[in-house]
Amino acid sequence: MLLKIRNLKKSYKISKDNEFIALKGIDVDFSSGELVSIIGESGSGKSTLMNLIGALDLDYTGEISVDDVDIKTMNSHQIDNYRKDKIGFVFQSFNLIPHYTVLENVTISCILAGIDKKERDERAKAILKKVGLENHLSKKPNQLSGGQMQRVAIARALINDPEILLADEPTGALDSETSEQILALIKSIADEGKLVIMVTHSQSVAAASDRVVRIADGLIVEDISKKEVQPEQ
Ligand code: ADP
Ligand code: ADP
Repeated sequence: MLLKIRNLKKSYKISKDNEFIALKGIDVDFSSGELVSIIGESGSGKSTLMNLIGALDLDYTGEISVDDVDIKTMNSHQIDNYRKDKIGFVFQSFNLIPHYTVLENVTISCILAGIDKKERDERAKAILKKVGLENHLSKKPNQLSGGQMQRVAIARALINDPEILLADEPTGALDSETSEQILALIKSIADEGKLVIMVTHSQSVAAASDRVVRIADGLIVEDISKKEVQPEQ
């Protein structure tokens, strides 16, 4: 089991005496190679769950273990490595740096990690080729379409070869044709063995996933795996 979550609870302090319970006890396991959609109404706790899995927020109770290591047992150095090496994040709004080129946007974490230019450029070029942007290396984000910007963001998320890709509404800002192309790319990433967890409001994105997990009011209320019921091809 790649990712194991047990009795996960999260409260936000909303005033001196009040807290809001956003996650009320999540129990779920995810494996390598799964393409999972997390669905549910706005405010149900989807982003909160993603932020906890990504160790962006360490203020929770319960267990989140990746490769049998509980995040809670990690020291700050190990947490940094976990965020850097195990997890890739993709957002609805791409979050690219406007004055950086495509190549620079993808290599940013390698620059910060002190990896030399030759190696980081080689790595980034290989990934940019995989996402179909090998001819756009020196463009700036404002010279790209939305779909191309999301491809850059996906390449950036994959640069350290993470085991888990977390995508919060990855197709939310894209038209339906571009969404399908990005979804196909995301599917290929799961097919290569990564666990991909997406938050989506799109029926078609959810329908194309292996597994759909519905959250309501801080709890998992439905968990449908489609891979198991599909006949062998
Ligand atoms: P979703 O992603 O499903 O829309 P969120 O995880 O963003 O839901 O939020 C779940 C609930 O927690 C919502 O009611 C939201 O208002 C609340 N919430 C999220 N972040 C905070 C915060 N930083 N402080 C207080 N309440 C929050
Ligand atoms: P989403 O579009 O993913 O549902 P939201 O718009 O609910 O996201 O939340 C965006 C950001 O605002 C998140 O980082 C969340 O933690 C924060 N947030 C959400 N609700 C609240 C709240 N009631 N108080 C403070 N911060 C909140």
